[in-house]
Amino acid sequence: MTQHNLIPDSKLPALGTTIFSQMSALAQQHNAINLSQGFPDFNGPDYLQQRLAYHVSQGANQYAPMTGALPLREAIAEKTAELYDYRPDVEREITVTAGATEALYAAITALVRPGDEVICFDPSYDSYAPAVELSGGVLKRIALQPPTFRVDWSAFGALLSEKTRLVILNTPHNPSATVWRREDYAALWQAIAGLPVYVLSDEVYEHICFDPAGHASVLAHPELRQRAIAVSSFGKTFHMTGWKVGYCIAPAAISAEVRKVHQYLTFSVNTPAQLAIADMLRHQPEHYRELPAFYQARRDQLIAALQHSRFRILPCEGTYFLLVDYSAISDLDDVSFCQWLTKEAGVAAIPLSVFCADPFPHKLIRLCFAKQQATLDAAAERLCQL
Ligand code: PMP
Ligand code: GLN
Repeated sequence: MTQHNLIPDSKLPALGTTIFSQMSALAQQHNAINLSQGFPDFNGPDYLQQRLAYHVSQGANQYAPMTGALPLREAIAEKTAELYDYRPDVEREITVTAGATEALYAAITALVRPGDEVICFDPSYDSYAPAVELSGGVLKRIALQPPTFRVDWSAFGALLSEKTRLVILNTPHNPSATVWRREDYAALWQAIAGLPVYVLSDEVYEHICFDPAGHASVLAHPELRQRAIAVSSFGKTFHMTGWKVGYCIAPAAISAEVRKVHQYLTFSVNTPAQLAIADMLRHQPEHYRELPAFYQARRDQLIAALQHSRFRILPCEGTYFLLVDYSAISDLDDVSFCQWLTKEAGVAAIPLSVFCADPFPHKLIRLCFAKQQATLDAAAERLCQL
């Protein structure tokens, strides 16, 4: 009998490896300072590490409940009540997921049916579009323009149709480092109040917001939160992106549908890590309360060090990313410039055009400042020579 080597007909034919993996690999290959993929080059809190070891030693090594370890869901409810004046129901509204990535995927899969339209704002994080596509949804993108990247609400209104099912927003925003204000939520609510449209709010950088008014969460909007899924991640907050523990908060009826997907995607999340994070939230809440100041110092250090470079620095209101314009240095497009920068200048960065469907002709790159002072100084020294 002849054996056939089957090659799958790709469901995602246009996709390759993510820009984050590509740039980190290129950085490693050329021994460049890696300011591309967003992750800290320092360790998470000692207490968190100790609690992980403790829970492993105590035998908390079997499956966690599908919805998340109870102490963690309780701590999340507490933190949410403190910050956004809304206490989600521990049993029915909070679901712990394998990073924010899983929550985003589960939410999109639960809500989007073939032919449904989903609105997102470009530049947009790379995991949204493939999830929409796999669900048969149609992505409608609104292109935000630098340097402010503000939403044009009349353009948004014009994109709404009877097919619109979901709006995906992200604040603080990766990669533009801008944040939504309360007025943005008011405008969003005004536009969708009468329509059967859900909101998926990616708030993984909720604790890295430099706006004096603080992070504006969808959960703080009494009407929007009744149809919203707010997604967050502990990877950014506790400097351990590799633990991949995140969560989502949504009304019970929406959570029930998200959980049906989560149940068969991962079922449950690393037990000792959940318990360690619960201890951390309860016993060292100052960690997340002090995070804006912690990252603002790093942001300002990088800005000061680049003051004498030929890069033009854009405002940074949140996240651990800084955008810089390199038009005084090179005519290359941003992808080519990032490759050149890694190979020739020894600093890896992320181009912005890869987050956009339409041509993005701006000469902007993203630098990650979740790095030790010495790393930032060394990178800035190289960048100042260009
Ligand atoms: N959303 C955004 C905007 C992100 O930047 C990231 C990762 N850095 C994620 C989601 C995914 O988070 P996680 O690593 O917890 O899956
Ligand atoms: N979210 C991270 C970034 O923006 C990368 C995460 C990943 O590599 N998938 O750099």
